Amino acid sequence: MLQQTQVATVKQRFYEPFLQQFPSLSKLAAAKEQEVMKAWEGLGYYRRARYLHKAAKQIGSDKLPDTLEALLALPGIGRNTAHAILAFGFEKPYPVMEANLKRVLCRYYGLVEPSETELWQKADQLLDKQYPFEYNQAMMDIGAMVCTVNSPSCLVCPLNQACVGKLDPAAYKVKKTSKKPPTKNRIIIVKQNSQHQIYLKQRDGEFLGGLWGFEQFEVADIDTLVYLGDVKQTYSHFALKAKVYKQYHEDAKKGYYSYQQASAMPLSKLDQKILSLVEKH
Ligand code: SF4
Repeated sequence: MLQQTQVATVKQRFYEPFLQQFPSLSKLAAAKEQEVMKAWEGLGYYRRARYLHKAAKQIGSDKLPDTLEALLALPGIGRNTAHAILAFGFEKPYPVMEANLKRVLCRYYGLVEPSETELWQKADQLLDKQYPFEYNQAMMDIGAMVCTVNSPSCLVCPLNQACVGKLDPAAYKVKKTSKKPPTKNRIIIVKQNSQHQIYLKQRDGEFLGGLWGFEQFEVADIDTLVYLGDVKQTYSHFALKAKVYKQYHEDAKKGYYSYQQASAMPLSKLDQKILSLVEKH
């Protein structure tokens, strides 16, 4: 939940309402996918909500597994998440590895663009096996507040004594793999019938799967369309710019919903923006 948003916003708007609605794994497992997606609406990374739901079903009880193997067998849980659950949830000796912590490890050990394997080896080596909770929390705090990207505070850093990188922290970096995501130009069609109902389709597949939304096309016959406005949305792997059009389909019924019904359905941020355009016209 914290991937894109501040802690205070997430806590009040998403985390607490989510736990109120699904207070246990069995309650989450028993929920319909659409209810889970609606509770997640606005957070992005919708695949996580689907995995969370699938994982709750797969666990089949209210007890989260407490071994690495059992956690890794659940959908959506990779090595870092499994380690975080074990260290923070069960106080077991596993190191956590997030972006800030990678930077601290690179500087502390003097590593220039190390491989993931090397980073995990160093993380295991440095871990305080007696106090994994406190150790991981302290390392994350150091990464966020002391060993910062541009102005590390080496003089007050508790790792200062043995840190290899303290003389030139900028020289030790994690390999950057991310390129600027491409932009896709699309036309989005809002179909409407004679009862002013609008057409929505539930998406499947990995990207925004489970959410409902308006249809998107790379090209279209512009002459039959009414222009509603422009929308933009940035995703992790591409940025989208789209022109939104309305097209009348007089007697169509299947897949059409009233504005009120559409507002109550789990929509992505982009589709919420389009729905606001529809409301204005
Ligand atoms: S001593 Fe400086 S470079 Fe080393 S971990 Fe601390 S803040 Fe980072």
